[in-house]
Amino acid sequence: MNKKRVLITGAAGFLGSHLCDKFIGLGHHVVAMDNLITGDLRNIEHLFKLENFEFYHQDVSKYIHVPGELDYILHFASPASPIDYLKIPIQTLKVSSLGTHNILGLAKNKKARVLVASTSEVYGDPIVHPQTEDYWGNVNPVGPRGCYDEAKRFMEAITMAYHNVHGLETRIVRIFNTYGPRMRLNDGRVLPAFIGQALRGEDLTVFGDGSQTRSFCYVSDLVEGIYRLLRSDYHLPVNIGNPAEITIKEFGDEIIKLTGTKQKMILKPLPTDDPKQRKPDITKAIELLGWEPIVKREDGLKVTYDYFRSLPDWTLKHKEFGR
Ligand code: NAD
Ligand code: UDP
Repeated sequence: MNKKRVLITGAAGFLGSHLCDKFIGLGHHVVAMDNLITGDLRNIEHLFKLENFEFYHQDVSKYIHVPGELDYILHFASPASPIDYLKIPIQTLKVSSLGTHNILGLAKNKKARVLVASTSEVYGDPIVHPQTEDYWGNVNPVGPRGCYDEAKRFMEAITMAYHNVHGLETRIVRIFNTYGPRMRLNDGRVLPAFIGQALRGEDLTVFGDGSQTRSFCYVSDLVEGIYRLLRSDYHLPVNIGNPAEITIKEFGDEIIKLTGTKQKMILKPLPTDDPKQRKPDITKAIELLGWEPIVKREDGLKVTYDYFRSLPDWTLKHKEFGR
């Protein structure tokens, strides 16, 4: 095997930590970077003893220095949950703009291939359904979600510019809602919110009337899709997600059944600009990468629920520390 040196930003987060495991598992050397603003070192603490792993506590929005060669860079640093980026909108804007600029400069310097983590949020509240990569989206730049969506759109634009001007090898993945172990119980995203509520014996908070849809992808499927895209020679954006679409109300029913909670669903106001529908068209991923998700929601939810149940009691009681 050809051993690579791989920089992963956002390594202590949900997706970054699973990517670290993937590359370590393949025998590569991982340089992990994170400023821990929404991440948690416990997600990668099992890797610290390995020779093939090193960690930099660093804000990627500031100048980055990494000694030695790099073959691949995966840029995953960014708050990703709506309540996180509503709390820290300026850091969110900076990490995908200034941070991406730093990452691209580093990649050019090291002659590394770079993959950036974009999002289905570039489609905003989509009018085209399911979302194909050639849809330009429907984003409100000045709404509360604008700090995330527009920063990711800028990230795509500057990545394309480095590809076109400097011939940099770039990959852009548009990630749709992903779930699995190591999500933070208190990150506000619908799955940890519902499971946390069920475990605490609280009612499940459905925003709006619950008719909005999402399509949830299990993390191992996502990681495999990202790996295949990185190894491909395709530089335009590719959707990676699971097209199995479900309303939030139906999702609440599934969580009630899974957890056996006696609580019910209660309706809360719908947040501003909350997308009404979301489902990836994954034709490109199928044709270019031979990739399709294989984990059924029922199975992925069970593993994730078991993970949340395995956490110490205090993570549940003290919502602000929930992992
Ligand atoms: P997360 O919050 O769990 O992880 C993000 C990590 O980035 C955290 O560890 C955080 O501390 C770190 N970080 C943030 N700003 C940083 C900075 N300036 N410098 C260094 N580190 C910084 O979120 P996640 O769900 O793992 O998302 C990871 C990436 O994937 C993000 O770029 C996100 O936009 C993208 N994404 C995720 C999803 C999803 O469903 N999870 C969907 C679409 C896109
Ligand atoms: N949602 C909900 N109750 C919650 C948290 C979220 O009904 O406690 C809804 C939210 O309004 C959205 C969907 O679930 O329509 C998915 O929200 P999430 O924050 O997970 O991600 P998004 O896809 O909106 O970025």
